[in-house]
Formats: sequence, structure tokens, C-alpha cells
Amino acid sequence: MSDNKNNIVILGAGVAGLTSALLLSQDTTNAITVIAKHMPGDVDIEYCSPWAGANYLPFGTEDSNRGIWERRTWPHLARLAQNVPETGIEFQTATVRRRDKDQNTTTGKWTEELTQPDPWYRTVVPNFANVPRERLEPGVDSANTFTSVCINAAIYLPWLLGQCRKAGVVFRRAVVAHVADAGDWHHTGQKASLVVNCTGLSSLTLGGVEDKTLHPVRGQLVVVRNYLPEMNMISGIDTDNEYRKDSESVYTMTRPAGGGTILGGSYQMDNWDPIPDPDLAKRIMTRCIELCPGLVRPGQGIEGLSVIRHGVGLRPVREDGPRVEEEKVCGMLVVHNYGHGGYGYQTSYGCAETVVELVRQVLSQSRANL
Ligand code: FAD
Repeated sequence: MSDNKNNIVILGAGVAGLTSALLLSQDTTNAITVIAKHMPGDVDIEYCSPWAGANYLPFGTEDSNRGIWERRTWPHLARLAQNVPETGIEFQTATVRRRDKDQNTTTGKWTEELTQPDPWYRTVVPNFANVPRERLEPGVDSANTFTSVCINAAIYLPWLLGQCRKAGVVFRRAVVAHVADAGDWHHTGQKASLVVNCTGLSSLTLGGVEDKTLHPVRGQLVVVRNYLPEMNMISGIDTDNEYRKDSESVYTMTRPAGGGTILGGSYQMDNWDPIPDPDLAKRIMTRCIELCPGLVRPGQGIEGLSVIRHGVGLRPVREDGPRVEEEKVCGMLVVHNYGHGGYGYQTSYGCAETVVELVRQVLSQSRANL
């Protein structure tokens, strides 16, 4: 250890790795190196975080780890939206709609908790209300409205990196084949006491982890210049095509600070295709205009959209939810923080707080055993 400091290597510079680094760096006894194959500014199908919308729409049930991490994350995102405009986070009104007929589809199950008429998060986010029945669109059985946040990932990820640097965290590019090898990359040249594994979907193949319960869930989106002041989601779509019914969705959000409006989307399990599908893109644009006619001028269809780009990201979905726990791998202490599916931003601070608690416990146990 350098000057009696805890030498920690964080593997991964997505939202999970950067938030873990930020919270760990608040303890000045930690000397932290973040190593990663991809860093903020990179665009790659192996790097999920830049592709996210991103917003705060709670999906976890109240007593699940996921729900608890979502609850713990809200105050942090709200504080940043309120007080720190340079994060690229802003409050935005969300309307989430439920159709009972969607509840057996994958997208219906994905949004089940979010679209409950009386959800646990009504006491967490401001301005929660059920939309009055007379204001529901045809086919919609119920809807909730509340104040959420929208995060411009292109601004927020570099902001996180900058905050970490200010706190003394060192960043290095590296690719490791085995999680324990990350311990050789501490910037002091000494062996790390502990590695925090934040490799997202790559934990499927990373040596020493190889978590076969991870799945890519493909999210395709279109980013447009058209402005929409609020965010929207509906639990499903109408189609006779069973695969599409199960794996295509409709949502919109406008990224703060000129980031464009995100039109989504898809939820395609075990689909690794990094190339945007032009037919799916047309369906996404058409459905978003149907749900939110204000996106274009009256009478216009998709020709009224000004497209910035098409994109695809792979959500790192883990069958039992995110893995935030300690393990000893080939003699190296490891704290895992991966597998956050489609909710890595909205659980980011909750999970990173758990990482901080685990790192403290594991290092003090290891000192006691010396
Ligand atoms: P990643 O961002 O993938 O980062 C992994 C890091 O590990 C990278 O730096 C990578 O280079 C590094 N790495 C991996 N393997 C190695 C190795 N062997 N050696 C060195 N480095 C390695 N979440 C929300 O909360 N709200 C949303 O609105 C939202 N919308 C989404 C929309 C889409 C279309 C998608 C695809 C995702 C969305 N998500 C959303 C989910 C969110 O983006 C992810 O949960 C989150 O980005 C995962 O972050 P991560 O840090 O775990 O992984």
C-alpha cells in the first residue's frame, strides 16, 4: 500500500465504474486507479453507458435490491439537477402509460412496476399523480405523471471523470483478460489491495468472472433535433407480429443542453447486432409520433423529423439483477458492480454506496487477518 493508503483498481469507466470511483475517492485513505478499454468520449457497442437516454423511471419492486438502489439514487440525481447544471442533468416531467393487454409481454413486464397506479416511488419523486381517466389516450388503461430527470450522458460521463480527477483518481487505458490481472495496474506500480469489477456485459467473458447469467438486451434508438418538453413511455405496441410485440417499445426523452430527443426503442433479448435496423427505425419514429404528435408539425409524419443519428446499445441484463458483492478470485479481493440492465444510471449511486460499504468491510477484514 502507498503511504498506508488502500490501493484500489476500478475496472471499467462506464456509469458504474465512474460513480464507484467518485464515491470511493471521498475517502482520502483510498488511492484509486480506473483502468478501462473504453473511456468517456468513445462510441462502441461494447460500451453501454453513452447509449443510454438516460432517465429515472423506477422498474424494481419496493423491497428488491433494485428498488432499494433506485430509491437511494434519486436524491443524488435530484441534487445534481437542482444545483449542478454542468452535469447535463435536468428535471423533466414524465408520463408513463399502462395498457392491461401488454402485461404478458416482455416490455409489459419490464414496465409493470413503473406503471402501477399506486407505486412505491410515488413518495420518492416529486409531483406524482395519476392521470385523470378522461385525459387517457384511447386504449390506455391508466397513466402516471411525475417529475423525473433526464441525463445527457455525453455531458454527464465526462463530468464524472473530471470530478474523479479532481479527487486524485488516476485514469489509464488497459484491457485485461482476467479480473485478478487488474490488480497489476495500480498507478503506484504496487499491487492493488482490491479490484472493483465494473465491466458491464463484458463480465460474461472476463476471466475469473464468466457470468453466464448475463444477456445482451438490444436497445435501438433514433436521436432527433425535434424538441419535446416532456418524456413519455407506454407499456406496449399493437402488432400481429409476436416477436415485435414482445421486444419493441415506445418512449421519448429530450436530452438537456441541446442533446437532442431520444426516440426509442427496443428490448431485444440475446440480440448482439450492433447495426441499426432501418425498418425498426421507421417503426420507432412512426410510433413515437403517434404517441407524441407534438414532435412534428400538424399533418407531418416521419419526414417531419430531423435525424441526428441512429444508434444501438446493449443493456447488460443479469437474470438475478445487478451483482454487487465481494469475492476472492485467484487470491485477489474483488468487489463486483455489474449487470445493471436498462437501469444503470437510476441505480448508480445506490449501487456505488453499497460498493463503498463492501470495500470498507473487506479491507478491514483483510487487515484483521494479517
Ligand atoms: P459499460 O458502460 O458498458 O462500461 C463497461 C466498462 O468496462 C467500459 O469502460 C469498458 O471498456 C470496460 N471493460 C469491459 N471489459 C474490460 C476489460 N476486459 N478490460 C478493460 N476494460 C473493460 N439506464 C438508466 O438508468 N436509465 C435509462 O434511461 C437508460 N436507458 C438506456 C437506453 C439504452 C438504449 C441502453 C442500451 C441502456 C440504457 N440504460 C439506462 C442502461 C445503462 O446504460 C446501463 O445499465 C449502464 O450504462 C451500464 O453501465 P456499466 O458501467 O455497467 O457498463
